[in-house]
Amino acid sequence: MGRSGGLRVLKFGGSSVATPERVKAVGAVIRNAAKKHRVVVVVSAFQGITNQLLECARRAERGDRTFEELYLALADRHRQACSELLRASDTSTRESVENLLQELRQALHGISLLRYAPPRALDLTASFGERLSATIISGFLNRSFRAPSVDAREMVVTDDQFMHAAVLFDKSNPAIRATLQHIWKSHGPRAVPIVTGFIGSTEDGLTTTIGRNGSDYTAAIVGAALDASVVEIWTDVDGILSADPTAVPSAFVLSQVSYEEAMELSYFGAKVLHAASIAPAVARDIPILIKNTFNPTAPGTLISRKTDPWEGVAKGISSVDDVTLLTVRGAAMVGVPGTAERLFRTLGSHRINIILISQASSEHTVCLAVYSSDAPRARKAIMQEFRHEMQLKSLTLDEKPAQTIIAIVGEGMKGTPGVAGKVFNALGRNHVNVSAIAQGASERNISFVIDSQQKVRALNVIHQAFFETRKRLGLVVIGVGNVGGALLRQLEKQQAELRRQGFDIAVYGIANSKRLLFSPAGIALNTWKEQLDAAQEPMQVEALIRHVLSLGVPNIALVDCTADAKLVDAYPNFVKANMHIITPNKLANVLPWKRYAALTELMRERQKYFFYEANVGAGLPIISTLRDLIASGDTVVKIEGIFSGTLSYLFNGYNGGKPFSAFLQEAYQLGFTEPDPRDDLTGEDVGRKLLILARQLGLKMDMNDIRVETLVPAPLRTMKFSDEFFRELAKYDDAMQRRLGRARLRGAVLRYVGTLQGNAAYAQLREIPLNHPFASTKGSDNIIMFTTHRYSRTPLIVQGPGAGADVTAMGVFSDILKLLHWLPW
Ligand code: ADP
Ligand code: ASP
Ligand code: MG
Repeated sequence: MGRSGGLRVLKFGGSSVATPERVKAVGAVIRNAAKKHRVVVVVSAFQGITNQLLECARRAERGDRTFEELYLALADRHRQACSELLRASDTSTRESVENLLQELRQALHGISLLRYAPPRALDLTASFGERLSATIISGFLNRSFRAPSVDAREMVVTDDQFMHAAVLFDKSNPAIRATLQHIWKSHGPRAVPIVTGFIGSTEDGLTTTIGRNGSDYTAAIVGAALDASVVEIWTDVDGILSADPTAVPSAFVLSQVSYEEAMELSYFGAKVLHAASIAPAVARDIPILIKNTFNPTAPGTLISRKTDPWEGVAKGISSVDDVTLLTVRGAAMVGVPGTAERLFRTLGSHRINIILISQASSEHTVCLAVYSSDAPRARKAIMQEFRHEMQLKSLTLDEKPAQTIIAIVGEGMKGTPGVAGKVFNALGRNHVNVSAIAQGASERNISFVIDSQQKVRALNVIHQAFFETRKRLGLVVIGVGNVGGALLRQLEKQQAELRRQGFDIAVYGIANSKRLLFSPAGIALNTWKEQLDAAQEPMQVEALIRHVLSLGVPNIALVDCTADAKLVDAYPNFVKANMHIITPNKLANVLPWKRYAALTELMRERQKYFFYEANVGAGLPIISTLRDLIASGDTVVKIEGIFSGTLSYLFNGYNGGKPFSAFLQEAYQLGFTEPDPRDDLTGEDVGRKLLILARQLGLKMDMNDIRVETLVPAPLRTMKFSDEFFRELAKYDDAMQRRLGRARLRGAVLRYVGTLQGNAAYAQLREIPLNHPFASTKGSDNIIMFTTHRYSRTPLIVQGPGAGADVTAMGVFSDILKLLHWLPW
């Protein structure tokens, strides 16, 4: 049967046959393919069944009678599948299924009597999964066309290494051809054989399996024996992705990968394809196509000699869990010829699979990664082999359990300098510690070992650094009152445009003081309010941080839209969870110097950004202007301005026509002041802004270094706030009136002005000449004037509305954009 025959092998994994519903979808795919081509199908056990069968055997071995319940549940699932998939008249399939279940029960019974389940018995037990699924699927397909089931044990011949038997190709290939020819002879050339994956038998007829996930391998073996034109692996994802999508949400489908790339990725844990499947395909140059049963029109991933013309340096990233790192260290490793060789030979002779080796250039240490299940045997073997060296202490052995290997794979890495540097840079910035590193001899991969706890983060960090051209930023917004609410509205409106520009902003968490809404998939911003109202989880910082850490996404910012001091206390914890901080909340920036310095130092050390444009002048670019001036080498001489929107409004409008207290009460009623207007009148807030600017200039100042004039008369400072306050304040109206009158006589107006000059910072109500820029402010304008060496004769002035939810949110938004632009990618 030549390639021109266009024979296709289609393999359906456990995920494709998880439920009868899914089997029906599989039926549609097969029917379509069979219309155009000669087709052979390979199937896995229904999803989860192999694990359950092995668990049954282990329980039976332990004498744990609950194996029977598990057996019954499993039998039931197959009977249920029969009733949903088979015609009522199809008694023969039902009978075959009952026979298999009966045989399985006997096998388990045998194990429980003997209290012994050697690998050979485990293989027999496991074989029922594929035998049952092939029988039922064949029965289902027989309703519309000929689809006889084929037991691979008739044709896949293996050695007797039970559980991971090696296929004997010289025996298997002719047997496969003969068996299938026979099928087509007796059922007709259009018949579609349904072959059990994963299982085979020894020459003596003992049942074996060829390794977990081995149905892919069966498909490749059958494809190679029949010289198929393509082997199609049908699964539950759109192809091979740049990373495991369950860990890296932004992973994307690779349209073409080379055999070698696919091999490296699957060897290092991408279970979408069994690593062994590549070899038979390569030998005959048969392409492998990965397809999604649930999205059959998606093009999938083509694995062949060619690689994608799109050449990033790296193609994909994968990981292997449950690894132990063994470090052999000591003088005996240096210059004693053959020590390393002895080490590997010993492990080899104990059939311990070394997944990764890394040798320090000093030759002083050798690191080996092995599966944790092999670790005790590996340790024993090494201790035995090197017992003399160990006694003399010229060699030591360290063991580090719970490790994960991460591999970065791509043809483009060959000869590209700096890849390792980029990896470690990205990991370092995100506090992932690497305990060993190795570069594959092929130079097609770099792999490294980390603590398993850090796996998700490491995968995402590397994925972002190597594979993503889009810039991604995750946000957690706390406080959804005026400013937070406005910010979320603005974000929603801009999301599409930002995407177009290559930026992805996802809001993972939203919280108010009571509730926390968190979604690893990102919160849909058009319904955040409803979702938050419905959220069950109480807002707690520790829980929030746990969510963020489990997300593992690099570049997440806390957006604190509260005025909450307790949240500010928790900033260090957020920073330690690798979050940047963006906030209009001034409290962090006015903390006592020691705490402020500790916080900024922590952020520096952790390479996290802290942006707070909205601290001063709401949406006006005050902080950023100041930063730019300093960064570009200018020297600031003086900063002076009207920093309070409320005080600005009050003195822009107060013209003596109405008493000051009445004018204030009106502003209060219009909502232009703080709930207690004294919070505006004390000038405290202006003082805070001056402190924030002073600290920008590098001045080591605290609140008590700032002199502020309060406009609240002394007797009124402690009373409870009520309308009574305005009546009391009326007693001082005359004094204010006189101040205004004096100013007018001198051709001036009153303005509440903050000044920062040299080491002095103060705020007070001042007379401002009419020709001064401060005299012409309107509404609640802020105006800030920077006098610098460069801007000496004409100061640099920033003026505009300096209060209100929308402009404040805009200031926060500008910080978010700044972060997007500044982050290293
Ligand atoms: P099947 O049951 O069809 O054999 P598997 O569960 O064995 O399917 O393999 C498919 C799964 O492999 C996907 O659902 C995905 O979670 C996982 N996976 C891991 N790494 C990758 C990757 N790089 N690309 C695609 N899938 C991957
Ligand atoms: N059913 C087997 C397993 O679970 C083989 C496979 O699914 O490919 O390992
Ligand atoms: Mg699989």
